[in-house]
Amino acid sequence: MTEINWMSEVEKRKADLIKDTQGLLHIKSLLDEEHTSPEAPLGQGVKEALDYLLHLGEKDGFTPKNVGNLAGHLEFGEGKELLGILCHVDVVPEGDGWTSDPFGAEIRDGKIYARGALDDKGPTMAAYYAMKIVKELGLPLKKRVRMIIGTDEESNWRCVKHYFQHEEMPSLGFAPDADFPIINAEKGIADFDMVQTGPIEAGETEANAKIVSFVSGKRYNMVPDHAKATLLVKEHQDEVVQQFIANMKEVDLEYNYHVQNEELILEVIGVSAHGMEPRNGKNAGLFLAEFLSKQELDTKAKNYFQFVSRYFFDDSRGVNLGVAYSDEITGELTINPGKLSFTPESGGSIGMTCRYPVTNKMEETKAKLDTLLKDEGFTIENFSDSKPHHVDEQEFLIQTLKKVYEEQTGEKAELIAIGGGTYARSLKAGVAFGPLFPGRPDIAHQKDEYMYIEDLLKATAIYAQAIYELGKTE
Ligand SMILES: [Zn+2]
Repeated sequence: MTEINWMSEVEKRKADLIKDTQGLLHIKSLLDEEHTSPEAPLGQGVKEALDYLLHLGEKDGFTPKNVGNLAGHLEFGEGKELLGILCHVDVVPEGDGWTSDPFGAEIRDGKIYARGALDDKGPTMAAYYAMKIVKELGLPLKKRVRMIIGTDEESNWRCVKHYFQHEEMPSLGFAPDADFPIINAEKGIADFDMVQTGPIEAGETEANAKIVSFVSGKRYNMVPDHAKATLLVKEHQDEVVQQFIANMKEVDLEYNYHVQNEELILEVIGVSAHGMEPRNGKNAGLFLAEFLSKQELDTKAKNYFQFVSRYFFDDSRGVNLGVAYSDEITGELTINPGKLSFTPESGGSIGMTCRYPVTNKMEETKAKLDTLLKDEGFTIENFSDSKPHHVDEQEFLIQTLKKVYEEQTGEKAELIAIGGGTYARSLKAGVAFGPLFPGRPDIAHQKDEYMYIEDLLKATAIYAQAIYELGKTE
C-alpha cells in the first residue's frame, strides 16, 4: 500500500474541522446542577455538547450511542478488540478577564480562543476528524474504534463511572486530554484527614495562650497560601507578637497581626502551588503551626501543633511519618497538608493528598499510618484512594504511539510520569496522548484559553495515524 500523507488528509478537511470545532466551542457546556432533567442530569449545556458530537458522528456514518445522558460513544469498524479514545466535552467556568467572548471561538493570530479550546473540545474534534479520516480512506482495520465522550471530567467523573458500569472497557486506548508526547505513569492519589481524637480535656490552667481558632487551606490538592489563628494571650502579648514578627522575617514570609476584642489575630501569607509537588509552594498553615507549636499552649492544642510540626513541617516526603518511598518510574511519594484546622471544641485536623509511586502499596502505607496515629491520638477519616496508573514502555500501545509521534513531529517521544491524575486513568490500558506539545504554555482553565490551529491540525494527523497503526492489527 502507498504511504499515507496524514497531514495532507487533514489539510483537505481543515475548513470543516475548524467550523465543527467552533460549533462545539459555542456551546456553554458547564456543569449546572440547578437545572437538570432526566435527559440532562448534569445540566442542559453538557447534554447539548454531547448531542452535538453524537449527531455529527451519526451524520458521518459512525454508530452513535447515548449512555445514560452522562456519556456516549461513536464507533466504527469491526473486530474482537476495541480501541478507545477517551474525550470530554464539559468545561470549567469561563471566569473573568477575557479579551473576546469565551464561547465566541474567535480566531486571532492563528489561534482559536475559547473556554475548552485546549481542554478538551479542540483535541476532541482533532480525535474525531482523525477517526473520520481513517474511516473515509477505507483503510482495513482489525479492531473496532470507539470515541468515548464524557461530560463530567472537570468535576466528579460521573460520566466514565456510569459509562464503564454499562459498556465495554477498551483493550487499549488513549485520552487526548493532557500532554504530548505520552504520559504513561501517574502516581496513586490518596486523600484523607488526620483527625485528633485525644486528649479530650480542654487544657491546663498554666497555658499562656489559648487558641480560639486556627485555619488554613480549603483543598487537599493545593498548597495553602493563607493561614489565620486567633489567640487569647494571658501575659506578655507583646512578646508573642515580637516572636511572630521575628519568625516570619526569618522564613521570609508576608504576615499580618492585629488585636480585636482582646484577641490576637495572626495571619501568614504563603505561596500557593499544586499539591502534587509541595516544594513548589510555601505552606502558610505549616509555618503558622510551627510558630504556634513553640508557644505555651494547653495540652490539646499543644498536641495538635507539635504533631503538625513534628510530622509535616519541612517534610513533604513522609520521612517523619515513616512512609517515605520512591521508585524509578514515578519518583518520590509526596504529602501535601492542604487543609489544617483547630478549635478547642472539635480539636485539630490535617487534610492531605498523598501522591504515591506506581510500585507503592497504599494498603501498607495506610497500615503504617494507622499504627503511628493511634499512639499520637489521631485517626484517619474520609479516606479515598485512586490507584496508580501505569502502562509499561514495552507494551504495543506505547511502542506504536512513540513511533507515530516521532514520525509525525520528527521529535523524540519521551515518556512522562506525573504526580497528578489524567482522564486516561479511567481506561484499563490507556495513556494520556496530547494535545499540548512540549514548549507550549498550558493555558487550560485560564482566561483567554486557546489552541493553535497549527497544533490542532498536527494533533489530528498524529491521532489519525495512531488510530490506523493501533487498529490495523488483531
Ligand atoms: Zn480535560
